[in-house]
Amino acid sequence: MFRRFLDTLRYARPYRTQLILGVVFNVLSVVFSVISIPAIIPFLRILFGQKREVSAPPPEWAWEVESILANINYEITVMVAERGESTALLYICGGIVLIYFLKNLFRYLAQYVMADVRNGISRDIRNRLYDKMLRLPVSWFTEQRKGDLLSRATSDVQEVEYSILSSIEAYIKEPLSILGALAIMLYMSPSLTAFVFGLIVVSGLLIGNIGKSLKRRSRGAQERLGQLISQLEETLGGMRVIKAFNAEGYQSGKYRQENDRYRREMTQIIRQRDLASPFSEFMGVAVAALLLWYGAQYVFAGELDGAAFIAYLFAFFNVLTPAKSFSGAYFKVQKGAAAAERVAQILDAPEIITDKPDARPISGLHEGIRFEGVGFEYLPGIPVLQGIDLEIPRGQVVALVGASGAGKSTMADLLPRFYDVTEGRILLDGIDLRDIRLHDLRSLTGIVTQEAILFNDTIYNNIVFGLEGVTQAQVESAARIANAHDFIMASESGYRTVIGDRGSRLSGGQRQRLTIARAILKNPPLLILDEATAALDSESERLVQDALEQLMQQRTSLVIAHRLSTIQNADLIVVMSQGRIIEQGTHTELMAHNGDYRRLVEIQMIGTSAGSVT
Ligand code: ADP
Repeated sequence: MFRRFLDTLRYARPYRTQLILGVVFNVLSVVFSVISIPAIIPFLRILFGQKREVSAPPPEWAWEVESILANINYEITVMVAERGESTALLYICGGIVLIYFLKNLFRYLAQYVMADVRNGISRDIRNRLYDKMLRLPVSWFTEQRKGDLLSRATSDVQEVEYSILSSIEAYIKEPLSILGALAIMLYMSPSLTAFVFGLIVVSGLLIGNIGKSLKRRSRGAQERLGQLISQLEETLGGMRVIKAFNAEGYQSGKYRQENDRYRREMTQIIRQRDLASPFSEFMGVAVAALLLWYGAQYVFAGELDGAAFIAYLFAFFNVLTPAKSFSGAYFKVQKGAAAAERVAQILDAPEIITDKPDARPISGLHEGIRFEGVGFEYLPGIPVLQGIDLEIPRGQVVALVGASGAGKSTMADLLPRFYDVTEGRILLDGIDLRDIRLHDLRSLTGIVTQEAILFNDTIYNNIVFGLEGVTQAQVESAARIANAHDFIMASESGYRTVIGDRGSRLSGGQRQRLTIARAILKNPPLLILDEATAALDSESERLVQDALEQLMQQRTSLVIAHRLSTIQNADLIVVMSQGRIIEQGTHTELMAHNGDYRRLVEIQMIGTSAGSVT
């Protein structure tokens, strides 16, 4: 638990100045809070009529507790003698108000700077999480549920802020307050304090035990919340299907069940957390009662005067309150520890696809790409690609065809290193992809996928997407080549039109042409087209196909073919089946060969013109 707390503190480094200020203000606040304890003694003594004779001369001045107290006592006695009890009491009350004002002023100042630290740290954690997710390999995301990641990046970070960061202050301040008040008590009566101290330790241990299972429970609840957000996310994405299949009842039932489990776990957690306060208050009173009885013996024996004993009790309550908030903070940190762990699991996930220390810079594609004995498995022991040997010479179009699941997309994903080969190697101009700087490799590749990936931003920004130093003219020219300029100009604000979540305000063909314009603007020498014309009507398809042909000119392309009619002019057609290449050649060669390719073509010709192999 404490390790997690310290772990979180490593994010506090940039806030050193504020933290130090926080400690200083807290110390000052504690000092005034400790001073307020003996300040009531003279008040009580006057009230109880324990007058003292004015002793002359006044005690000697020194920076020692004894001397300071003696002097204050002397001044008060003089004041009582000269101006009467009532006025003296008024002065003392004024002094107490002033002390409390200062104590609370510094307490607020401490909270004021700490607010910045708490929120700064949680902002930093959110930033780190986001950047980390951008660095993690594609494979990592296939093993995660999106909703769970969302909940870690939002509600878990929030929980860390609420539970752990908000306790930093308690962890700094309360021990100081406890020590300060204990010091006063120790000064007043060492033996009585030893007794009190023992009682406090015992109650601390009891409270610690209650808090133990809180972390485990809390982890369960955060996971449940992740599931809830997962389902929400899926529901929002699959709204049409849910409605079309009348699956509202089914979905709602699932959601309710999950939601109710979450409620149950949260209720238990909150009940357990809430136990901290009544339990520690009860323990406090029990200890206080013992102390009253035990301390009274000291007064009877004449070892403490009545006023001092009341001040002592007052000091004890000054231990009790911080002890209570300390135990509250302990419970909170327990509760937040699970969230901190869930956040750390993302932050510590290995980035397996990174630059080697001596990664080579490249600036273009000169000869081509070569697959040499490439094998790949997503899951150990289940090969998805085996013994792939393939040349993609510069400037040529290579098409992959084959049944769904044959491994075409996987082949394409290996080129920009979304995944690394598990066997053999892929060479770019003779250099293993894994030895090339990742940034350079990805600058060389353009990708147009079947599902057009767009972001909720303007059309202009979606086309430029991450490129720097492009002009409006270049963007428009790319859009023209992609057959997108006309529909862009026809939309309400032209290039400044915001396209909605994932481009939901555009048709499939329009979305596709925007992604093609994006690829044209990037102007990469190596192009990967993954089933780019699937799911379009024939008018859209013609426009998109036309745009694609423009895009492919002068480029090296790997095309995952969806309609065989579109790839008859490819320089090489590669037929795949179950992770292997079973045939390759030009359209004419393969038709003459009378093998699998010819069969695939014939199946498509018999089917509708929109028939597909996938
Ligand atoms: P194609 O593009 O030819 O339809 P894929 O390359 O998508 O084929 O898939 C090839 C095989 O790899 C399929 O059997 C598929 O189930 C499997 N596969 C694809 N992605 C993953 C993944 N992330 N984890 C495990 N298996 C996968």
